[in-house]
Amino acid sequence: MADSDFLHWPFFEQRHRDWAARVEAWAAEHAEALSHDTDTDAATIALTRALGEAGLLEAAVPRDGKLDVRMLCIARDILARHAGLADFAFAMAGLGTGSISLFGSQELKDRFLPAVRQGRSLAAFALSEPEAGSDVAALATIAQPDGNDAYRLTGQKTWISNGGIAGHYVAFARTGEAPGAKGLSAFVVPADAPGFSIVERIEVTAPHPLATLSFDGVRVPVENMLGKPGEGFKVAMATLDVFRATVGAAALGFARRALELTVDRASNRKLFGGPLFDQQMSQAAIADSATDVEAAALLVYRAAWLKDQGTPRVSREASMAKLFATEAAQRAADRAVQIHGGLGVTRGHKTEELYREVRALRVYEGASEVQKIIIARAEKDRHGQTTG
Ligand SMILES: Cc1cc2nc3c(=O)[nH]c(=O)nc-3n(C[C@H](O)[C@H](O)[C@H](O)COP(=O)(O)OP(=O)(O)OC[C@H]3O[C@@H](n4cnc5c(N)ncnc54)[C@H](O)[C@@H]3O)c2cc1C
Repeated sequence: MADSDFLHWPFFEQRHRDWAARVEAWAAEHAEALSHDTDTDAATIALTRALGEAGLLEAAVPRDGKLDVRMLCIARDILARHAGLADFAFAMAGLGTGSISLFGSQELKDRFLPAVRQGRSLAAFALSEPEAGSDVAALATIAQPDGNDAYRLTGQKTWISNGGIAGHYVAFARTGEAPGAKGLSAFVVPADAPGFSIVERIEVTAPHPLATLSFDGVRVPVENMLGKPGEGFKVAMATLDVFRATVGAAALGFARRALELTVDRASNRKLFGGPLFDQQMSQAAIADSATDVEAAALLVYRAAWLKDQGTPRVSREASMAKLFATEAAQRAADRAVQIHGGLGVTRGHKTEELYREVRALRVYEGASEVQKIIIARAEKDRHGQTTG
């Protein structure tokens, strides 16, 4: 039985409880059922379409452009508890359009957002490169002016979620207004733009559509720029500032499922003449996972609530939420595997799937080490010391 007590915490309003009930009802019927296709692309497309048809992508791609981070977190928490790919489909609709919602002109919003909101088109956020992952300032894709009305993008992006199946890519490239991170700009690139291609598809531990992209002199009109020239880093960070806590929410959903499985197995597995639960070390594992879940939920929903209050940047709180929740989920998934013994590592068992599913969350949208640096710098500032 899903734990919904947290929805009565003071972070939430009635509309959040209604939203949770709606997402839960959809997920119970469709999330796992639509994830079973062994063709990951087909499953992601089907999930996105179904989420769109159910109206659930209205939260990820809001009509008024105002992203309600608590709604995003609730959806990811619930969807991840049911099926990782369902969470992925929902999250990418948001991440791949968030920069347009936040910084796009009305024309760009009208052109790209409705199809994603309805689940008819998939979206992607293309920041990482072979030589620039954690170190965004090292980004090498360039955007050179082509007359007064366009840029030409040249370079490669890699580990791009929805790469190969997205209808558009929000891509970041160097326009050179200043060195490092201050010389980047953001563009919306349609997937059918001449010169754009998929170099390779990438297989990862928990299957997701992922690819390396090539931009070979791709002509992009100036109207497709998000924000102003040189504001690309700001666009990327503001987008991640919204979505970072939601990665923590997905991790939370995985951790909740791991805890459910741990309690269930410990209660029903007979060992040494009684339930495994009677062994106190099993109780310790359950207590540790339950505490991890509650602490992760508090940090995730605190960060989401704070952002929704209009706090301009919540980097410290979002980083704490992502760091703690993703690491906690890995611990909870590992405990679930351990309690299940051989069954826990059996391919196709839910515990084994969770164990693989959680892993990438500790790497993408800022690895755990990067979150620690953000938190430590914020602490230094809070204690009145200047950061270098
Ligand atoms: C499943 C998946 C989906 C992804 N989807 C997208 C996407 O949609 N769009 C996109 O742009 N990117 C995406 N990425 C890329 C992801 O954001 C990068 O992998 C991530 O930023 C890390 O970059 P990197 O892989 O180059 O590792 P590196 O930058 O080489 O870092 C390697 C490791 O070094 C450590 N490290 C990093 N910085 C520090 C530090 N300051 N101090 C100490 N240790 C440090 C961390 O442990 C890190 O994992 C995805 C990745 C995965 C795995």
